Amino acid sequence: MITPSDFESFKSVLQHAKLYVLVTHVNPDGDAIGSQVGLGRYLMSLGFEVRIVNQDETPNVLKFLEFDGPSAESYDAIRHDGLLDAADAIVLLDNSAPDRLGRMEAPVRARTAKTLCIDHHPTRGTPWARNVIDTSASATAVLVYELVRERGGVVDRAAADALYAGLATDTGFFRFNSTSSRAFRIAADLLEAGADPTRCYREVYESNTLAYTRLLGRALAAVSLDEGGAVARAGITLAMIDACGAAGVDTSEFTTPLLAIDGVRVAILFRELPGGKVKVSLRSKGELDVSLMAGEFGGGGHRNASGIVMPGRFDDVVGTVTARAVDLAENGR
Ligand code: 5GP
Ligand code: MN
Repeated sequence: MITPSDFESFKSVLQHAKLYVLVTHVNPDGDAIGSQVGLGRYLMSLGFEVRIVNQDETPNVLKFLEFDGPSAESYDAIRHDGLLDAADAIVLLDNSAPDRLGRMEAPVRARTAKTLCIDHHPTRGTPWARNVIDTSASATAVLVYELVRERGGVVDRAAADALYAGLATDTGFFRFNSTSSRAFRIAADLLEAGADPTRCYREVYESNTLAYTRLLGRALAAVSLDEGGAVARAGITLAMIDACGAAGVDTSEFTTPLLAIDGVRVAILFRELPGGKVKVSLRSKGELDVSLMAGEFGGGGHRNASGIVMPGRFDDVVGTVTARAVDLAENGR
């Protein structure tokens, strides 16, 4: 739950800040963009100026959230460092980890005194000046909704769509274990405020490109299981992306069919990145906690959904991480 002192820090920021810059993590997802747009619209309704500045562009399937503004700008030091200086408040949404700001880490850290972080990821402390962190919330969008409502703010239709999208995507459309009665109550409120759940699903999951589907097919065709059948893995190399014309597609959903195999308890998707790095997406069922294992390799996340970016040769990373996952599936830790 949000604590009374959390509500106070939000209020105190609103009392002195007029120009807001909203930031989030690299590769923004539905909760990142949804929380930014949802909070942004509330701040604009109060007459404040709001800019959303992210390292990475908003994925195409989420751009519908920005139609009525505010829309995200791609961080550029020359254009935005002056803006960060001028801002009265920098609000980090859906991200408390400095390194997940990517290229924005140094410029945001340099202005720590005016930061407010609103997040639901587990953390061992943050450097930010003010923090509203509630790991029991299904999504950051939930926290934004509760903060705004506590102030008596109105959630308009576009904000409702944005916050609903954040909540729905982070809970896997209300099926992950992060789903709660609190999430359903807020979803109901958001529908009453005008959110369109059918449109949200269509935009996010029924707007894939042909290239995306071909890449999914190639990745799934090469799926493999460990001997016990508890760990499923698939890989995406730069060559596969090139062959499918799928540059820039978000592949994190490829983990869903891997975890859907009967008996599989840990699913791993390896994606080769330019510059000798590999993105690892980890998913698990039930009590098996992949976040601890992700932490051992410098990543993090939630019990059933975590990620890592690791340096190294593709095959080496696949070998190392798969071995650790097999161990986790066998020993429970
Ligand atoms: P995905 O596999 O969809 O990229 O990420 C799943 C979850 O893992 C995210 O919601 C986020 O919490 C976490 N995560 C992904 N990548 C990283 C990373 O590089 N570092 C940390 N600390 N967490 C990550
Ligand atoms: Mn989130």
